[in-house]
Amino acid sequence: MEPGDTGEPTGDYFILNRSERGLRKQITILGSTGSIGKQALEVVRNHPDRFGVEVLTAQNSCDLLIEQAIEFQPNAVVIGNPDCYPKLHGALGSYPIKVYAGEDAISQIVEMDGVDIILNALVGYAGMIPTYKAVTAGKRVALANKESLVIAGELIIAEAARNRVPIIPVDSEHSAIFQCLVGEDSRSVEKIYLTASGGPFRGMTRSEIEQSGVKEALMHPNWSMGNKITIDSATMMNKGLEVIEAHWLFGLPADRIEVIVHPQSVIHSMVQFKDGSLKAQMGVPDMRLPILYALGFPERIPADTPRIDFSEYSQLTFEQPDHELFRNLSLAYQALDAAGTAPCVLNAANEMAVTAFLQQQLPFLGIAAVVEMCLESMPHITNPGLDDFISTHHQTTEKANQIISEKSWKY
Ligand code: MG
Repeated sequence: MEPGDTGEPTGDYFILNRSERGLRKQITILGSTGSIGKQALEVVRNHPDRFGVEVLTAQNSCDLLIEQAIEFQPNAVVIGNPDCYPKLHGALGSYPIKVYAGEDAISQIVEMDGVDIILNALVGYAGMIPTYKAVTAGKRVALANKESLVIAGELIIAEAARNRVPIIPVDSEHSAIFQCLVGEDSRSVEKIYLTASGGPFRGMTRSEIEQSGVKEALMHPNWSMGNKITIDSATMMNKGLEVIEAHWLFGLPADRIEVIVHPQSVIHSMVQFKDGSLKAQMGVPDMRLPILYALGFPERIPADTPRIDFSEYSQLTFEQPDHELFRNLSLAYQALDAAGTAPCVLNAANEMAVTAFLQQQLPFLGIAAVVEMCLESMPHITNPGLDDFISTHHQTTEKANQIISEKSWKY
């Protein structure tokens, strides 16, 4: 160890651990066939001297997983859907790659030896238990699955602290805040500003939004992302989930986390310090940047992704979010305030409502209505454990589906 290295995470991960410099890291990617997973593999492909792949997992996309496994030669692959196992096993039989199947295998693989960093790029609730198991097993997590912390933030942060493992955010806003905090004393933070693009419906009237369907909601102005998060951006639930994620990652109360709409998505978030100074992290809206930062941390690894061309951005603008039209943002603050299982209810109801919207079984404004009804009707558990989160998730899922199928939502 060199002087200045504490090797410890707390205040922790902001102290550069020089002994890690220049090492080739073995990455496990949970959800390698999704949007973040594919972009992470692009990062690995561009930095073969710095990153290798230990494990890849997918839920159903067997063909793409086979393609990725042949290119990156991981130690193991896992497919969530057991029906895909024979095909996967057959295709990879001649390679030295272990093949596993089933949901449980995805949670178990995170405990495996030889894994340096787990990039959790799963979507929704499915990512929570793998994050919990990873930090419990003392593994460093690069977290793209914000729902892990929304559902069970207190539990996961406590386990990470107990095992002295950092959780490095991949979410662009949280990566920005994390970067602004490097070298700072966390006690000097006054508040954080999470920037929001405002999504495709920013500035629209209620009736214009009512007339919009799935196609319009999926047209995000700045970011290329999966369907679930793109709809969450359109409803502003994404920002609501990010407020809760920021609360757990940075240990700030809700009244010191403010959302500000910044349509250009150049400033990825900001930290305001007690002396009145403000730090912003900027860059082109490209998820490969926060992915590379999280995987490379504490190093900044050179990359040739596009740079900001200021002639393209003659002005950067800011506006307040519309809480009336985008109810989800207020609901998320309410859930954070209620604590316990309320954020878990918020998330489960939202997942079901977004699925129903994508299947055209629920109008856009019905999403927040379903979330609100679930928050009002589900039992509240204070000081929940892991089992409480699991049962609350499943009970809320049922409740939300009942509201959707009976069309008992109102807005
Ligand atoms: Mg984000």
